[in-house]
Amino acid sequence: MSRASHRPHVVIVGAGFAGFQAARTLARLARGRADVTLLNPTDYFLYLPLLPQVAAGVLEPRRVTVSLSGTLKHVRLVLGEADGVDLERRAVRYTGPEGERGELTYDRLVLAVGSVNKLLPVPGVAEHAHGFRGLPEALYLRDHVTRQIELAAAAPDAATCRARCTFVVVGAGYTGVEVAAHGQLFTRSLARHQALRAGIEPRWLLLDIAPRVLPELDRRLSTTADRVLSGRGVEIRTGTSVKEATREGVLLDDGDTIDTRTLVWCVGVRPDPLVAGIGKPLERGRLVVDPFLNVPGHPEVFACGDAAAVPDLAEPGEFTAMTAQHAWRQGKVAGRNVAASLGVGRRGAYRHHDLGFTVDLGGVKGAANPLGVPLSGPLAGAVTRGYHLAAMPGNRVRVAADWLLDAVLPRQGVQLGLVRSWSVPLDTASPELARVPGGPAAPGGHPAPADARSHEHEPKPEE
Ligand SMILES: Cc1cc2nc3c(=O)[nH]c(=O)nc-3n(C[C@H](O)[C@H](O)[C@H](O)COP(=O)(O)OP(=O)(O)OC[C@H]3O[C@@H](n4cnc5c(N)ncnc54)[C@H](O)[C@@H]3O)c2cc1C
Repeated sequence: MSRASHRPHVVIVGAGFAGFQAARTLARLARGRADVTLLNPTDYFLYLPLLPQVAAGVLEPRRVTVSLSGTLKHVRLVLGEADGVDLERRAVRYTGPEGERGELTYDRLVLAVGSVNKLLPVPGVAEHAHGFRGLPEALYLRDHVTRQIELAAAAPDAATCRARCTFVVVGAGYTGVEVAAHGQLFTRSLARHQALRAGIEPRWLLLDIAPRVLPELDRRLSTTADRVLSGRGVEIRTGTSVKEATREGVLLDDGDTIDTRTLVWCVGVRPDPLVAGIGKPLERGRLVVDPFLNVPGHPEVFACGDAAAVPDLAEPGEFTAMTAQHAWRQGKVAGRNVAASLGVGRRGAYRHHDLGFTVDLGGVKGAANPLGVPLSGPLAGAVTRGYHLAAMPGNRVRVAADWLLDAVLPRQGVQLGLVRSWSVPLDTASPELARVPGGPAAPGGHPAPADARSHEHEPKPEE
């Protein structure tokens, strides 16, 4: 791709929390001094923390997206997915949305490609579980859950009805907890309008190998989440994992078998595989950078967010966690440091203060510890929603409007069926994109099936 300008060219790969903020900061600081190009597979920034609300029908999917070209003035958007970085030639190769190949050369590069679903070598999981890392998966889950309740109502026998009404979430980190919390409320509201067999109601199980839910967060958040979820009837099984998954259910490592058609895999994430192909040192798959977010030996290359192993200056010897808070603030530092490398301002190391964490437990409830103060109940719920509204870089009024509507109207119990099981495989390098029949193969991911009936994951009969 040729450029007319002779200004330095900065390429930012990935427009999530880190990349969006890097682009915004840089466009402001180095306006007129550098050309900034943002390479991303979608034309929007995705506010991932609200994804469980999309899966539960609280928010419509476009609410959690923010248009890149609408918010990032003076930044050129190139739609595509990077599949190789040549550090010697200073070039990024990519595949566009219609399969076209392209290349961007750079003077400065920021890698902010985030993470993808983490797989564990458990038989049947890749085929029968779905992850929760992108909008297509959230849309799939909303439709799938709605369909299960509808099919349960029409099931020929009680065992089938019970299996369809059983939902298993593996991984009780913040994603799994929020998916189970919102999912349980969603199915409860769906079941009100379906004639399920007497004595059968939606059942949610939340499993984790760890001894408590939210194992990586403050113990007080964990206690609150456990109390709220258990109080609503979610079965929490800690110290438990999945031994095998099949089309009909899951076998747990304690020997129990759960008949279900729904297995949501929230065991965590791993860095986007793009960074492993660069040939530079990695820390658990994350690209190692110095405190200035520079890749050692390459002062022109920066990395931040989930894909980068950033030294935690507050905890020497550790790396910062994979959270939106870190990614957002690292993006800002990356933007500033790229500008400094072009002669604008001074560079600085990434330092942070723990601002606490918020977990949305659905309804009006939450668990939060803003600035270390533990909160629970509706106050925590209000703080959580307020925090998300403040943190979103756009679309706030629409999100607030959906929350208001959800508070006064029943949820819409309809499934559009646009995202099918085979189009959101668990093992993919591109959770942000749904596979489409005959579409281009995703770099590093699963190829799209030639048609919806010929995929390596045998579609379930109802899908
Ligand atoms: C359901 C869910 C809830 C969460 N809730 C919270 C929360 O409450 N609080 C919190 O702190 N964290 C939360 N997180 C974690 C947080 O979202 C991540 O840590 C954060 O998104 C990381 O930011 P990032 O910029 O590194 O990656 P991302 O935000 O994932 O952005 C990566 C971007 O890179 C793009 N990309 C990927 N590969 C390529 C490629 N090859 N070429 C070009 N572009 C590419 C992607 O499309 C995406 O736009 C949650 C995560 C999930 C999944």
